[in-house]
Amino acid sequence: MAVIIDGKAVSAKLREEIKNESAAFEKETGIRPGLAVIIVGDDPASQIYVRNKGKACEEVGFYSEIHRLAAETTEEELLSLVHRLNANDKIHGILVQSPLPSHLDEALIVNNIDYNKDVDAFHPVNVGKIMLGDYNFLPCTPAGVMELLKAYDIDVTGKEVAVVGRSNIVGKPQAMLMLHANATVTICHSRTKNLSEVLRRADVVVMAIGKAKFLKADMIKDGAVVIDVGMDRDENGKLCGDVDFEECEKKASYITPVPGGVGPMTITMLMKNTLTAAKTSVKK
Ligand code: NAP
Repeated sequence: MAVIIDGKAVSAKLREEIKNESAAFEKETGIRPGLAVIIVGDDPASQIYVRNKGKACEEVGFYSEIHRLAAETTEEELLSLVHRLNANDKIHGILVQSPLPSHLDEALIVNNIDYNKDVDAFHPVNVGKIMLGDYNFLPCTPAGVMELLKAYDIDVTGKEVAVVGRSNIVGKPQAMLMLHANATVTICHSRTKNLSEVLRRADVVVMAIGKAKFLKADMIKDGAVVIDVGMDRDENGKLCGDVDFEECEKKASYITPVPGGVGPMTITMLMKNTLTAAKTSVKK
């Protein structure tokens, strides 16, 4: 039976560290890290994510602002808010909650965030910096995965890692972080032929495709480390991941559950990025 990676516990420990580090930084500089979150429209899932981000800020002692804008907000109005936040010294991190209503150009909005305040690490400058291995911020979910591996002393050096999914927010940066950690990386996607064959070679499998319980035990090798980024609903509407946990738990060496695995790490890494942004603002 696999060791179950406890994302809640790792996350709680990291938040405590961030809280202490932030308090020490504030004492030394008088600067309290500040995060601004913008949400446009009333998507219920986004409302929950945004509320949780506000709560996490409180927990670690950050200043936070949540800007709730109507669904019919124009691009000009949204850009004007982003520019005001760029110029606001109390704000070190700016996050625009995705998805935006379809009349708003998400890439344009992200490109207008000062990249020093881009705590999601989606701005092209930050994406490029990640590629070069010279970065301030890492995208929160892939960075959270790396922290989980670190917390359980799982070293990927020289290991075969398969990342399933190639999105800009998870799959691609995840593969890059694994490469920086000296893994041999294979990126799989919907056109990958013989996916099971590729996955059965992997020492570590990271699933990020958004398909409930897709990964079965016969698709992994004995003792594989299985990381589940997926946040899906099963046939009964219950939250689950991309991994068939019950099956894979019996064959893997380590496995992340859903909920309670990667999920809690994402907001924690957002807090870490906001603290980094506040510290960087002093050095500029
Ligand atoms: P996405 O943008 O929809 O991308 C999905 C990726 O999966 C695509 O690259 C797609 O391939 C690939 N894919 C789809 N079906 C496949 C299949 N049968 N075999 C192999 N590859 C397949 O998804 P995302 O935004 O990266 O999110 C992925 C999952 O992670 C979702 O469940 C999401 O909710 C979850 N998520 C969780 C967190 C967290 O905090 N825990 C954060 C972000 C996302 P193509 O490129 O070929 O289409």
